[in-house]
Amino acid sequence: MAKPNLFDYDRQGLRDLFASIGEKPYRADQVMKWMYHRHVTDFADMTDVGKALREKLSAEVEIVPPKTMFEKQSSDGTHKWLLGMDGSNAIEAVFIPETSRGTLCVSSQVGCGLNCQFCSTATQGFNRNLSTAEIIGQVWVAAKHLGNVPHHQRKLTNVVMMGMGEPLLNFDNVVRAMSVMRDDLGFGLANKRVTLSTAGLVPMIDKLSESSDVSLAVSLHAPNDELRTELVPLNKKYPIAELIASCQRYAARRPRTSITFEYTMLKDVNDKPEHARQLIKLMRKVPSKVNLIPFNPFTGTRFTRSDEPVIRAFQKILLDAGVLTMVRRTRGDDIDAACGQLKGQVLDRTRRQADFRRKLEQGQADAA
Ligand code: SF4
Repeated sequence: MAKPNLFDYDRQGLRDLFASIGEKPYRADQVMKWMYHRHVTDFADMTDVGKALREKLSAEVEIVPPKTMFEKQSSDGTHKWLLGMDGSNAIEAVFIPETSRGTLCVSSQVGCGLNCQFCSTATQGFNRNLSTAEIIGQVWVAAKHLGNVPHHQRKLTNVVMMGMGEPLLNFDNVVRAMSVMRDDLGFGLANKRVTLSTAGLVPMIDKLSESSDVSLAVSLHAPNDELRTELVPLNKKYPIAELIASCQRYAARRPRTSITFEYTMLKDVNDKPEHARQLIKLMRKVPSKVNLIPFNPFTGTRFTRSDEPVIRAFQKILLDAGVLTMVRRTRGDDIDAACGQLKGQVLDRTRRQADFRRKLEQGQADAA
């Protein structure tokens, strides 16, 4: 039987696990610090843990991060990892450095079943949920690469659950991983620096509101039900009015915080002035800001990116109405790491399998 992987536990879970082998809670805290502050995975290197306990831990549990299969850096500094999860699946995590912060985009599922029409990940379908270890492992791999030390040398300042998958459909594992991201013994990030992005699973937004204080982002992409149902099929089940109401409830519990609404700009689809005006009416109902995302085309898509002047005009209509609106800069284009391009590799399900394996065997660094 596989040993428990300590990356699968948050602080309380680790303490419970240590209690089950007769160890005190502070021992779990010590080990957690070694894992997340010093990036140590070998118990033998945990020098302030007694030798007998180190041997006991080595025999009974393990600390195994995801395997880096490839990594690649864009000319703009964006860094992408292809991480092996179980020998047959791989997912991508992307680090985006900016002047005052460094943001890691993390995946929650292999593939995604929600079928948003403009999304590259959707084209591969859903394969499986990631474990807690696989989610927090993405942050760990990036933090180790960056030499990030919580509270001292903080290079990784923000985590966004905006990679592959719908995080709220993998609720327990995502909430546990986000707990480690925010724990002082983990990555020590403030609540507002951890963002969960959802396509709009209304009941789960309410559930999240009861268990977590992270920032919320909603993939809106359309300002009316007819268009949104076409772009985000989940809208049929949870239409905009219900979604906005759940956002109001989420915001009500967190004074002074706003909800981010993501809006991918699709040429001649959702980028007209009338769409901006409809969006303004929605945004007046909840403390909000809007992120306009220039669409990143991928093979086989029927959409194209809105022209730059159209995006700016759309932004101006929102700004003139007092809606805080940003246009997201496109990053990592040259390594397919831009928003909506986190496709990953599902070796047993896609036509890319043969190609990927061939590249893997040849050790080509550009296989990602
Ligand atoms: S946009 Fe998000 S929720 Fe929609 S299909 Fe893509 S990964 Fe899934």
